Amino acid sequence: MTNWDLGVSMRGESGPAAIVRAAVEEALSGEKDEGKYISPSSLARGCMLYVAREILGFPKPPLEPRIKRMFEVGIEGHRRIERYLRRMSLAQEVFFQDDRYRIKGYCDALIFIPPSLSEEHSGLYAVEIKTTGSWEFGRIEDEGPREDHRRQLMIYIWGLKRYYGLPIRGGIAFYEDRDSLEHRLFDVPYDEPLMEELLGKVEGMWGALRKGRLPDDHPPLEHWVHRYCPYLDICEVGKEALEYQREDMLGQYY
Ligand code: SF4
Repeated sequence: MTNWDLGVSMRGESGPAAIVRAAVEEALSGEKDEGKYISPSSLARGCMLYVAREILGFPKPPLEPRIKRMFEVGIEGHRRIERYLRRMSLAQEVFFQDDRYRIKGYCDALIFIPPSLSEEHSGLYAVEIKTTGSWEFGRIEDEGPREDHRRQLMIYIWGLKRYYGLPIRGGIAFYEDRDSLEHRLFDVPYDEPLMEELLGKVEGMWGALRKGRLPDDHPPLEHWVHRYCPYLDICEVGKEALEYQREDMLGQYY
């Protein structure tokens, strides 16, 4: 039994204070090697081959300066949008961790809609913030949140429920057009079957890695995700996918 379990610190603190002290000291010690965890954004891509390569530390090509700048603009946009939510925001960058599936990350924001604003919808919601270019924003307005963004919200809701035991009512996808600064928000209800399927894939991936091989689990060849994957240059499936897509496109013209 640890001091955490006893709720008693060496300084005689007890209860929650002792637990928080232990957490702070553990964070400051930086000594604990917890091994590899899957990040929500990686898992949300929906490719277990990608996730496995990341876990194994396969190198990625360096980001172009333009892409780096876009990331920086995205991070600044996140901070600004988080400020817009402050009248109902309980926390930003909310940590969660799951040791069974080895998934760890941060939810962009956890908000609470108070009963004074809506009796019907009052409660906790996980928020995913995305800034996009105009073309993508227009497509999202027409078609709704991207499948990887929906998946990321499911992972947030699942992770927050499991780690904190919180009754999260659902998710909200918050998009900002980087060019016009227009906003578009979507309700994204929790999808239990989708999350169970994803967790089954995660178990399969860890099983393959334990046997010393890469998982044979990736999106279909026609999926757009291969084109934007940093492992494309070393991935036979990705190359096959691009060839398939090229032939498919040519087939539409001839
Ligand atoms: S190129 Fe495609 S199959 Fe290969 S790791 Fe990337 S997303 Fe997965």
